[in-house]
Amino acid sequence: MQRIQNFIDGQYLDAQELGWLDNYNPATGKVYSMIADSNEADIELAYAAAKAAQKDWENTSSENRFKILNRIAELIDINNTEFAKAESIDQGKPFWLAKNEITRAAQNFRFFATSAMQFSSESHQMEGFAINYTLRQAIGVVGCISPWNLPLYLFSWKIAPALATGNCVIAKPSEITPMTASLLGKICNEAGLPKGVLNIVHGLGPKVGNAMVSHPKIKAISFTGGTSTGKHIASIAAPMFKKLSLELGGKNPNIIFADCDLEKAVKTSVQSSFLNQGEICLCGSRILVQKSIFESFKTAFLEEIKKLKVGNPLNDDTKVGAIVSKMHFDKVLSYIELAKQEGGKILAGGHSVQLEDDLKDGWYIAPTVIVNLSYDCRTNQEEIFGPLVTLTPFDTEEEALTMANSTEYGLACSVWTNDLNKAHRVAASIESGIVWINCWLLRDLRTPFGGVKYSGVGREGGLEAMRFFTEPKNVCIKYN
Ligand code: NAD
Repeated sequence: MQRIQNFIDGQYLDAQELGWLDNYNPATGKVYSMIADSNEADIELAYAAAKAAQKDWENTSSENRFKILNRIAELIDINNTEFAKAESIDQGKPFWLAKNEITRAAQNFRFFATSAMQFSSESHQMEGFAINYTLRQAIGVVGCISPWNLPLYLFSWKIAPALATGNCVIAKPSEITPMTASLLGKICNEAGLPKGVLNIVHGLGPKVGNAMVSHPKIKAISFTGGTSTGKHIASIAAPMFKKLSLELGGKNPNIIFADCDLEKAVKTSVQSSFLNQGEICLCGSRILVQKSIFESFKTAFLEEIKKLKVGNPLNDDTKVGAIVSKMHFDKVLSYIELAKQEGGKILAGGHSVQLEDDLKDGWYIAPTVIVNLSYDCRTNQEEIFGPLVTLTPFDTEEEALTMANSTEYGLACSVWTNDLNKAHRVAASIESGIVWINCWLLRDLRTPFGGVKYSGVGREGGLEAMRFFTEPKNVCIKYN
């Protein structure tokens, strides 16, 4: 059985304690590989390698950093099919979707490669007296921790800007989806990334992840994952005054006004509800629909959902693949039970799906649509992160905003309307870090990315990421 080792100082190594964890294929429900079960000793080893590489990497010209990161992007593109297959098997997502996501991971490297060349800082003149300039320097050794839903995409979204700005990195992918991060090490060596600049450590969050966050010399942590994990990480890192970026959970509203283009709203809402089995932090799980079009939206939406085939992630016609783990599968099913107890009526799905042959023990759930729930019940307030959405009618714009802003989260929101004034008004009043008007998941990598309230602190993307991974120092020079 394949063993997924750590990648430290340019070499693939077993964990120091020689322990292994099972890695499952969600499509079959079977163990198909083993992951290094790392601990503090592996973090110490990775830190030593990163520390030794730090000065040289920081002093590497931005043009050379660009060349290496750009080469990593090219190699990911060349190996797209291998990576996408690995991602699909590891995560349960349809292969065609994995291909898109691997392309997007390459784009992350390419985008931040060019950012390395273009990053600049400010100067402030005190006329006649002095000039200040801001030196933006690499932080040093930084830690990046990522979740299981978009494994290589989110991993690269952190690593690429950290490397572009001259930091050495210790990165931990989710123990549930470690495969493509592991393949990345080989590509980094091939692209000429110096040894020790990127170190990938596998294992359990509370064990090796915790050791990374607690390490006194790792000066910044960029984390994407659940809100409760984020809270825990903040409680350890904040007293050590580490720089922290926390991208956390969400419960995103998708607001459909009566004056929208209904056909487009329906088609995109199917995507924003069920793409990647609803396991995207930006999915809109609470669909709020203005009363006058509630019935027509519902009918058209349910009609579209019938076209979504739940199936083998490796098949081209599969639209909904497997749920990432048994634990998550049970969690989503438990929320369907909760919704029923709360008085919800299931209009579609509401159950697991058993496929045949090798896939009979895989974790599949039918796309589920629930109505008749109050906007403030638990089903509508807590993050479920699966193929489950609720439809809730509203009367007025004010009521839609009350419902939309009622959760403790604030990551993303979609708004469907053809009234320009309303679109601007609602966008300004929504409590979230991202608002899409008449679209969903359109991503420009230069824009700030992140959430408010319990969805996180700090922003990623473009200059925000370049600034996060650098320490600004003001230098003031007095004129003679
Ligand atoms: P998780 O919090 O369980 O795990 C995320 C990562 O943190 C994993 O690598 C895990 O091993 C590690 N970890 C766990 N405990 C840790 C600890 N004590 N110390 C250090 N590291 C630890 O999240 P998940 O279940 O992998 O991912 C799903 C969550 O991620 C959802 O809540 C989703 O909304 C969120 N998410 C947010 C965004 C965003 O951009 N805001 C993007 C994707 C996913």
